[in-house]
Amino acid sequence: MTEPTAPETPELDRRSKVIESGRTDTLAWFIDWLNDNGYAIAHRCTHVDQKPGRRCWDCGDSGFIGAVTDYESLIARHFGLDPAKIEAEMQKLLDYQRALNATQES
Ligand SMILES: [Zn+2]
Repeated sequence: MTEPTAPETPELDRRSKVIESGRTDTLAWFIDWLNDNGYAIAHRCTHVDQKPGRRCWDCGDSGFIGAVTDYESLIARHFGLDPAKIEAEMQKLLDYQRALNATQES
């Protein structure tokens, strides 16, 4: 039986470098500070459905719609990482590990 080949994981490698740099910790601490002090990160409204002279249906003219709660994806996007690629690479690593385990059990 041939040994399985370890998959390439360029996005996970990039993520590791970003995490090792400590920059994600700094952002996470700042987001925690915002939450602890009554602030929120919100999506900015683009007023796409706003009729001229009328209040914006989406945001009531506040300019903001919906709080951001998925900080992990937000931080990933900030560093140019693709969460879908990370997930796919993690799945390939899992498949690789399972294949490796299967060769060792036989
Ligand atoms: Zn609006």
